[in-house]
Amino acid sequence: MAWTRHHILGLADWKAEEYEILLQTASSFREVLSRRTKKVPALQGQVVTNMFFEPSTRTRSSFELAAKRLSADILNFAPGTSSLTKGETILDTAKTYLAMGSDIMVIRHKEAGVPHLIAAEMDRLQTGVNVLNGGDGQHEHPSQGLLDLFTLCSLLDYENPRLELLKGKKVAIVGDILHSRVARSNIWSLRSAGAQVHLVGPPTLVPQFFAEMTVGSNGDQLFVHWQLEPALKDADFVMTLRLQKERMTNYLLPSLREYHQSYGITRDSLKLCHPHVKILHPGPVNRGVEISSDLMDDPALSLIQQQVTSGIAVRMALLYLIGTLNS
Ligand code: ASP
Repeated sequence: MAWTRHHILGLADWKAEEYEILLQTASSFREVLSRRTKKVPALQGQVVTNMFFEPSTRTRSSFELAAKRLSADILNFAPGTSSLTKGETILDTAKTYLAMGSDIMVIRHKEAGVPHLIAAEMDRLQTGVNVLNGGDGQHEHPSQGLLDLFTLCSLLDYENPRLELLKGKKVAIVGDILHSRVARSNIWSLRSAGAQVHLVGPPTLVPQFFAEMTVGSNGDQLFVHWQLEPALKDADFVMTLRLQKERMTNYLLPSLREYHQSYGITRDSLKLCHPHVKILHPGPVNRGVEISSDLMDDPALSLIQQQVTSGIAVRMALLYLIGTLNS
């Protein structure tokens, strides 16, 4: 199968073949990144615009480095110092960057659907611009879901990361599922791989309706728990999530201390898991809340640094696949 997707807006409708192409392409770019000269001319002359209307450390820097490694020119938009503060609309901001020759726009916004809106406008105007969702509200964060997938598959077979490696593996996703776009993107990709996904957290943050995202065609299953034990029991991977305090409008938790006691991942709670268990976290981490500080820094257990490193190869792959689609 050849690559056909023009925009990367979410993983909900991705096909297995697309994941495989992405994993293979990211693997080749990881090889490029291991060379002394970590650059290829693939997107030379193209302009990538990072439009982040919401704070970001990892995703924004990682897209920037990925674009540079592909020899693209990169523009970084900062909302606080932009004409948005003078009342310019998001669509007008996008059209301004279009007029400057942007070929790819990477968009993050606190409202779900903004990347889709800009993509629809770019299509309506027949610009050929590709849009990449860098995280929209509570909806999706596809590049994070893909870098998590790449990290896990690479751990299981570094030379040949592929979807089938995760078939039947138990993955616990712990914490604030309700507000997490990372959880949603991971649910789609892990289900496509045939993993058994177990969501766990307090009922206010893990509503029962997630169970309705349920069983896919390849026998994958999704379970909802409100207690840690059944979710962690024999888990191969534990994905912890940040409490998205900025999105909590009500009192959804008694206190952070109580949350840590019931749902925080510690060396003790990991005893329930498979002996080879590994932990992931998309960052930023609230140390000592969703995960104990020492675990986070333990390279034998934590994949957090690998996730960040994988992010560059995966984002190079995404930019490359959409940026060379019509060439
Ligand atoms: N960095 C991730 C995101 O943008 C996770 C988080 O913020 O907690 O969704």
